[in-house]
Amino acid sequence: MQKLESLIQEASDLTNAAAEQEVARIMQICNACRYCEGFCAVFPAMTRRIDFASADVHYLANLCHNCGACLHACQYAPPHDFAVNVPLAMARVRKETYIQYAWPKMMGELYKINGVAVALSTSVSLMIFLFLALALNGRYFGGVLDGNFYAVFPHNTLALIFGSVFAFVILAIAIGVTRFWQEISPGKASAGAATETAHDVLSMKYLGGGHGEGCNNADDAFSLWRKRFHHFTFYGFMLCFAATSVATIYHYFLDLHAPYALNSLPVILGTLGGVGLVIGPVGLLYLNLQRDPAHGDQSQKPMDRAFILLLLLISISGLGLLAYRNTVFMSIWLVIHLGFVMGLFLTMPYGKFAHGIYRTAALLKNAIEKRQKNTLQLGSD
Ligand code: SF4
Ligand code: SF4
Repeated sequence: MQKLESLIQEASDLTNAAAEQEVARIMQICNACRYCEGFCAVFPAMTRRIDFASADVHYLANLCHNCGACLHACQYAPPHDFAVNVPLAMARVRKETYIQYAWPKMMGELYKINGVAVALSTSVSLMIFLFLALALNGRYFGGVLDGNFYAVFPHNTLALIFGSVFAFVILAIAIGVTRFWQEISPGKASAGAATETAHDVLSMKYLGGGHGEGCNNADDAFSLWRKRFHHFTFYGFMLCFAATSVATIYHYFLDLHAPYALNSLPVILGTLGGVGLVIGPVGLLYLNLQRDPAHGDQSQKPMDRAFILLLLLISISGLGLLAYRNTVFMSIWLVIHLGFVMGLFLTMPYGKFAHGIYRTAALLKNAIEKRQKNTLQLGSD
């Protein structure tokens, strides 16, 4: 058994090494060419290096947001013999970094079968919540409860289940990104670097493309729709998170308990967030289906789509729960919604959600590095 594990580890190390060598090979070509320097943060960061060791490759791979612009611009892209495909090479390494830095380490393997993992964890969560609803307060299940969720699931039960899973999610992601941070050795972050990073993340600056026309998607035409749908998704998610946080404050500090009125702050925030989380994922799913297959790594499509679909199902079931909360269907909408949310929580540290965290860390390193002297003087900064 141990021999099999070490053989699998050796095979995986070889795959990682090949993926990293491909990025290093391509970066050597790009460093000589530098045509794409204005497209994103990757190319200026590249010009600060001559050699591309593992840590450099991991950093650059997470700095790339797979916009596809450099592939369409490249005179050395396939079928040229140089076969330069930056987004594909970066995407392969990116996935390897998620696996390598994951905590606990063996859970990193879930990235390889993420679509299946999302489907399984969501299905199991749905079944568990249905079982719990019937076991805990079955006599209320299917009754008209005037939106009182806690008649189906006691508040403390929900707080315990979601609180403990959420704590694990935060811990797993924090350990993973700390390992990444330690390897890329970014130096000390000044207030200016932190502010620039916050701006880049919140505005999703690099999804705007090098000249503000956006990314490539199906072909060499630029479009801002990927940026717009990311905004809907991100801010929709944040509004839903804010709704839950406000409801928690109401419950514990103001002694105000759910159900809340339609014009209350938690319901308004949750409704706006839910609408954003419908528009964003629908748009991202459409763009993903239309995407030029040469962009990125096709083997990661199930992970991308599973995450987008799960966000969409969460928002639809949340809005359904709101619409039907005063009817006999409330209990079933509640079970479905909680099952989907738990499916997301369980897979958050081992799925597409991680890309936002690792990219933020890479952007922070970039902001720190830009403030340091470029001793090579090969690029424009
Ligand atoms: S991707 Fe192609 S065009 Fe762009 S810098 Fe690299 S080699 Fe040059
Ligand atoms: S795919 Fe886009 S973000 Fe990635 S290196 Fe190319 S231009 Fe930069």
